[in-house]
Amino acid sequence: MTTEALSYAIDEHDHLVKVDRGYYRFAEENGWAEATTSLGRSLWDYVAGEEMRKLQRMLVRRVRDEVGDVELPFRCDGPEVRRRMDIRIVARPGGRAVLFSARLRAEEEREEPQPLLDPEAPRGEEILTMCGWCDRFEVGGEWVEVEEAARRLELFDRPELPALSHGICPDCTEMLLAA
Ligand SMILES: [Zn+2]
Repeated sequence: MTTEALSYAIDEHDHLVKVDRGYYRFAEENGWAEATTSLGRSLWDYVAGEEMRKLQRMLVRRVRDEVGDVELPFRCDGPEVRRRMDIRIVARPGGRAVLFSARLRAEEEREEPQPLLDPEAPRGEEILTMCGWCDRFEVGGEWVEVEEAARRLELFDRPELPALSHGICPDCTEMLLAA
């Protein structure tokens, strides 16, 4: 079972100033070695993909300046599990610090492990785009779940996996803009 909750906070310069035990545990469970040196670093070092960084920066700015508090669903899948999570982003009135709290809503085991979602798997030259918010993949202009992407790309018949590029799908773009 995955760690069920984690939180982290940034200061006015978007540097990580506080992370809780859940953060470290979650990072460890997901093979994310860099997490131990997170404190003091920019949050944006940890957000993959330029478009995603741009949208999340806008969201954080809106939370600070106008909204105060948003809660959004997101996915944080692993090769063997689907994870539906929620993230709450909160700024105190007048303050520039922002707190992020994520919690696990549901976790389901997959019928088959999906190597596309394995950060350690060796990759080839071909590039596949993944949405960093909902963990879907763009195949032939459509955004589909990993199982469907693997099927359409006939990954099981190939000697190597495509490399991943991190982007954001139109549905998630719309959701982040509307938050
Ligand atoms: Zn998406």
